[in-house]
Amino acid sequence: MIVLWKSKHPIAAILAAKAEGETNTAIAKRLGLPRPAVNAAIWRAKNPPRPAGIIRTRVMSEEQFWALVDQRGPDECWPWTGALDAKGYGRLKKTMPDGSIMYGAHSSAVFYTTGIRTTKKNDTSVLHSCDQPSCCNPSHLRVGTHHENMLDMKNKGRAGNAWASGKRVRK
Ligand SMILES: [Zn+2]
Repeated sequence: MIVLWKSKHPIAAILAAKAEGETNTAIAKRLGLPRPAVNAAIWRAKNPPRPAGIIRTRVMSEEQFWALVDQRGPDECWPWTGALDAKGYGRLKKTMPDGSIMYGAHSSAVFYTTGIRTTKKNDTSVLHSCDQPSCCNPSHLRVGTHHENMLDMKNKGRAGNAWASGKRVRK
Protein backbone atom coordinates (compact mmCIF):
# COMPACT_ATOMS: atom_id res chain seq x y z
CA MET A 1 0.00 0.00 0.00
CA ILE A 2 1.26 3.44 -0.85
CA VAL A 3 0.82 6.14 1.73
CA LEU A 4 0.28 9.52 0.17
CA TRP A 5 1.96 12.55 1.59
CA LYS A 6 1.17 16.25 1.64
CA SER A 7 2.18 17.95 -1.56
CA LYS A 8 1.15 20.89 -3.69
CA HIS A 9 1.07 18.45 -6.61
CA PRO A 10 -1.74 15.95 -7.31
CA ILE A 11 0.20 12.90 -6.12
CA ALA A 12 -2.72 10.46 -6.39
CA ALA A 13 -3.38 11.49 -10.00
CA ILE A 14 0.29 11.15 -10.91
CA LEU A 15 0.58 7.68 -9.40
CA ALA A 16 -2.69 6.52 -10.93
CA ALA A 17 -1.54 7.66 -14.37
CA LYS A 18 1.81 5.95 -13.90
CA ALA A 19 0.05 2.73 -12.88
CA GLU A 20 -1.90 2.98 -16.15
CA GLY A 21 1.40 3.02 -18.00
CA GLU A 22 1.49 6.70 -18.95
CA THR A 23 5.01 8.09 -19.31
CA ASN A 24 6.35 10.72 -16.92
CA THR A 25 6.55 13.23 -19.73
CA ALA A 26 2.96 12.62 -20.77
CA ILE A 27 1.73 12.90 -17.19
CA ALA A 28 3.59 16.17 -16.69
CA LYS A 29 2.16 17.58 -19.90
CA ARG A 30 -1.40 16.48 -19.26
CA LEU A 31 -1.46 17.71 -15.64
CA GLY A 32 0.52 20.86 -16.41
CA LEU A 33 3.30 20.00 -13.98
CA PRO A 34 7.05 20.35 -14.19
CA ARG A 35 8.53 16.97 -15.12
CA PRO A 36 10.90 16.86 -12.14
CA ALA A 37 7.84 17.05 -9.87
CA VAL A 38 6.35 14.02 -11.61
CA ASN A 39 9.65 12.13 -11.44
CA ALA A 40 10.02 13.00 -7.76
CA ALA A 41 6.49 11.88 -6.90
CA ILE A 42 7.00 8.52 -8.59
CA TRP A 43 10.43 8.04 -7.04
CA ARG A 44 9.10 8.87 -3.62
CA ALA A 45 6.23 6.41 -3.91
CA LYS A 46 8.73 3.67 -4.73
CA ASN A 47 11.16 4.70 -2.00
CA PRO A 48 9.11 5.45 1.08
CA PRO A 49 10.95 6.76 4.12
CA ARG A 50 11.92 4.14 6.65
CA PRO A 51 9.25 3.94 9.31
CA ALA A 52 11.56 3.73 12.29
CA GLY A 53 15.07 4.40 13.38
CA ILE A 54 15.54 7.67 11.59
CA ILE A 55 17.99 9.73 13.53
CA ARG A 56 18.34 13.19 12.18
CA THR A 57 19.47 15.61 14.75
CA ARG A 58 21.82 18.52 14.79
CA VAL A 59 22.49 18.15 18.47
CA MET A 60 23.67 14.56 18.60
CA SER A 61 26.37 14.29 21.25
CA GLU A 62 29.20 11.81 21.17
CA GLU A 63 27.42 9.88 23.88
CA GLN A 64 24.20 9.74 21.85
CA PHE A 65 26.19 8.65 18.84
CA TRP A 66 27.81 5.68 20.57
CA ALA A 67 24.47 4.73 22.14
CA LEU A 68 23.25 4.01 18.61
CA VAL A 69 26.19 1.75 17.83
CA ASP A 70 25.74 -1.88 18.84
CA GLN A 71 29.17 -2.27 20.40
CA ARG A 72 29.99 -5.97 20.38
CA GLY A 73 33.31 -7.78 20.87
CA PRO A 74 36.48 -5.95 19.83
CA ASP A 75 36.88 -7.98 16.61
CA GLU A 76 33.20 -8.15 15.72
CA CYS A 77 31.28 -5.73 13.53
CA TRP A 78 29.43 -3.00 15.42
CA PRO A 79 26.21 -2.32 13.50
CA TRP A 80 24.68 1.14 13.45
CA THR A 81 21.16 0.90 14.86
CA GLY A 82 19.94 4.24 13.50
CA ALA A 83 18.90 5.09 9.95
CA LEU A 84 20.54 3.39 6.98
CA ASP A 85 20.82 4.63 3.43
CA ALA A 86 19.92 2.55 0.38
CA LYS A 87 23.36 0.96 0.36
CA GLY A 88 23.24 0.06 4.01
CA TYR A 89 25.51 2.81 5.35
CA GLY A 90 24.53 4.33 8.67
CA ARG A 91 23.17 7.85 8.30
CA LEU A 92 22.86 10.75 10.64
CA LYS A 93 22.94 14.48 10.32
CA LYS A 94 25.22 16.42 12.53
CA THR A 95 26.52 19.94 12.28
CA MET A 96 30.24 19.98 12.95
CA PRO A 97 32.05 22.80 14.77
CA ASP A 98 33.32 24.15 11.43
CA GLY A 99 29.75 24.41 10.14
CA SER A 100 30.00 21.45 7.76
CA ILE A 101 27.48 18.66 8.04
CA MET A 102 28.40 15.07 8.74
CA TYR A 103 26.17 12.35 7.29
CA GLY A 104 27.97 9.04 7.70
CA ALA A 105 27.78 7.03 10.91
CA HIS A 106 31.06 5.28 10.10
CA SER A 107 32.78 8.62 9.39
CA SER A 108 31.50 9.83 12.75
CA ALA A 109 33.01 6.76 14.42
CA VAL A 110 36.36 7.67 12.86
CA PHE A 111 35.97 11.30 13.85
CA TYR A 112 35.23 10.46 17.46
CA THR A 113 38.11 8.00 17.79
CA THR A 114 40.82 9.76 15.76
CA GLY A 115 39.68 13.35 15.37
CA ILE A 116 40.03 12.96 11.59
CA ARG A 117 37.17 14.54 9.71
CA THR A 118 36.86 13.00 6.26
CA THR A 119 35.28 15.17 3.61
CA LYS A 120 34.86 15.30 -0.12
CA LYS A 121 36.69 18.61 -0.01
CA ASN A 122 39.93 17.10 1.26
CA ASP A 123 39.23 13.97 -0.80
CA THR A 124 39.19 11.56 2.08
CA SER A 125 36.67 8.98 3.02
CA VAL A 126 36.34 6.11 5.42
CA LEU A 127 36.92 2.58 4.19
CA HIS A 128 35.54 -0.57 5.74
CA SER A 129 37.92 -3.50 6.02
CA CYS A 130 34.99 -5.77 6.91
CA ASP A 131 32.70 -4.90 4.00
CA GLN A 132 29.73 -4.28 6.30
CA PRO A 133 28.51 -0.81 5.35
CA SER A 134 26.74 -0.20 8.65
CA CYS A 135 29.72 -1.27 10.78
CA CYS A 136 31.05 1.41 13.13
CA ASN A 137 33.81 -0.57 14.84
CA PRO A 138 36.79 1.81 14.62
CA SER A 139 39.18 -1.13 14.22
CA HIS A 140 37.35 -2.08 10.99
CA LEU A 141 37.61 1.42 9.60
CA ARG A 142 40.43 3.34 8.04
CA VAL A 143 40.83 6.66 6.31
CA GLY A 144 41.63 6.59 2.62
CA THR A 145 41.29 8.89 -0.35
CA HIS A 146 38.05 8.99 -2.25
CA HIS A 147 39.80 7.46 -5.26
CA GLU A 148 41.12 4.61 -3.14
CA ASN A 149 37.65 3.97 -1.81
CA MET A 150 36.22 3.81 -5.31
CA LEU A 151 38.87 1.30 -6.36
CA ASP A 152 38.20 -0.68 -3.23
CA MET A 153 34.49 -0.76 -4.01
CA LYS A 154 35.15 -1.69 -7.61
CA ASN A 155 37.44 -4.54 -6.63
CA LYS A 156 34.87 -5.86 -4.23
CA GLY A 157 32.11 -5.51 -6.80
CA ARG A 158 30.17 -3.13 -4.62
CA ALA A 159 30.23 -0.13 -6.87
CA GLY A 160 26.80 -0.70 -8.44
CA ASN A 161 25.15 2.13 -10.27
CA ALA A 162 27.19 4.82 -8.61
CA TRP A 163 30.32 3.52 -10.29
CA ALA A 164 28.65 2.83 -13.59
CA SER A 165 27.16 6.30 -13.83
CA GLY A 166 30.35 7.97 -12.67
CA LYS A 167 28.55 9.70 -9.81
CA ARG A 168 30.37 10.35 -6.60
CA VAL A 169 28.99 8.72 -3.49
CA ARG A 170 28.91 10.68 -0.30
CA LYS A 171 30.29 8.74 2.61
ZN1 LIG B 1 33.04 -4.45 10.81
